[in-house]
Amino acid sequence: MTDLLICDGDIVTMNAQRQVVTAATIAVSGSTIAAIGRAAELRAAYPDAGELDARDCVVIPGMINAHQHTTADPLMRSMIPDDIGSDESIFGWVLPLHAVLDGDDDELAATLTAVESLSRGVTTVLEAGTVGHPLRVAAGLRKAGIRARVGRWGWDVADQPFAAPTAQTLAAQEEAITALASDGPVTGWISLVGHDLASDELFAGAAELAARLDVGLTLHMSPSEADSKSYAARSGLRPLEHLRRLGVLGPRLVLGHAVWLDDGELDAVLDSGTAIASCPAAYLRLGQGYARAGRHGEFRRRGGRLALGADSHNAGDSPDVLHAAYLLAALENDRGSENAIRADQAFGLATIDGANAVGMGALVGSIEVGKAADLAVLEASSLGWMPRGDLALQLIWGRASGSVRDVVVNGSLVLRDRRSTTVDVDALRSELVERSGAALRRAGIEVGHRWPAVPVAGFSKLAGR
Ligand SMILES: [Zn+2]
Repeated sequence: MTDLLICDGDIVTMNAQRQVVTAATIAVSGSTIAAIGRAAELRAAYPDAGELDARDCVVIPGMINAHQHTTADPLMRSMIPDDIGSDESIFGWVLPLHAVLDGDDDELAATLTAVESLSRGVTTVLEAGTVGHPLRVAAGLRKAGIRARVGRWGWDVADQPFAAPTAQTLAAQEEAITALASDGPVTGWISLVGHDLASDELFAGAAELAARLDVGLTLHMSPSEADSKSYAARSGLRPLEHLRRLGVLGPRLVLGHAVWLDDGELDAVLDSGTAIASCPAAYLRLGQGYARAGRHGEFRRRGGRLALGADSHNAGDSPDVLHAAYLLAALENDRGSENAIRADQAFGLATIDGANAVGMGALVGSIEVGKAADLAVLEASSLGWMPRGDLALQLIWGRASGSVRDVVVNGSLVLRDRRSTTVDVDALRSELVERSGAALRRAGIEVGHRWPAVPVAGFSKLAGR
């Protein structure tokens, strides 16, 4: 890995003082940020370094996506109708597709998700827990050059894809984590589906396993009112109270969603140091009631460890963390309460605060000497950036993710001039069309279209005839 100088950009460091260093150069050595200073001095210090011109650019820390599905949904993007309930979506679409996917499909879907994430300035992805072939998914993510945490799909319910008895589920989780390298950008986590789709033994066993292997744990909980109620019907307690008693809550745990929390549950999550990954685009698209019930603004204000996520390609749809930051801030601000989230705070959730929430704050989330070189260069010369206002406002409310030009992960330039340097995107495109169609046919899924597509031959008319 050669050294790299990223020259003369305005650097949004997200360090403790939240400094923006103007017209500055970043020296990347190996996988690490080695220096931040004047271009001339760093050129002298790193005479063999390659250079990236960042004049008229804003350089930001690579963003953190704490809840992203990388399999199945990427192969049926924008296909699950937006007027069906979650049961129909899961049992009519998601599970039948998962049941027919092989390792090649999973690797392809993960590659797409990673390349697309990088193009939005997202450099770290926490997989949300529906991976049948973890080593293949890890291979796809690694090939694209993104940083990620991946686990094997685990649940101990009957008759569903990748379901198994409790002990076997835990053994499969451990095996996947052990098989993935424990260093490097892509490593293993424990990922349960969560909801009411796990026994008490599986929840408790997963928390113990996470502690023993010294990794994180993620699971879905309480995105909707119905989810919380069905859990309570099984356990006799509200979900987070039940998980507290099982000893599952704690700093290793990242809860996907936790939208519907009562006062006691919110206290339990805060007191235990449990993190939440908030996916506002999914709540809005699926009608899960965030505007009525969501408390992530209050959770953040009270010191909760909050991160952002983009969920799946049919719930959130685009793996765009800046969009999630925009939506969550907008939802909380619309209430006009003390829990409002300002633009600078929202950008914190996308970067350093999100990194801290998922236990990676010492490694990524800010541009500081000694940290991993994970960053994005935004072209800030388009009219959308004129005149330059307050950078925090412009990044969040100005929807800046479309400005991402170059991305560095772990010291490697993985996106340059908006093109992936790691993946042949043309080949990826044709493979996606082919594999998506084949998988949908194997699963017996028919994709409807709201508007009729008609061949031009039957449509052509000359004006007036
Ligand atoms: Zn999810």
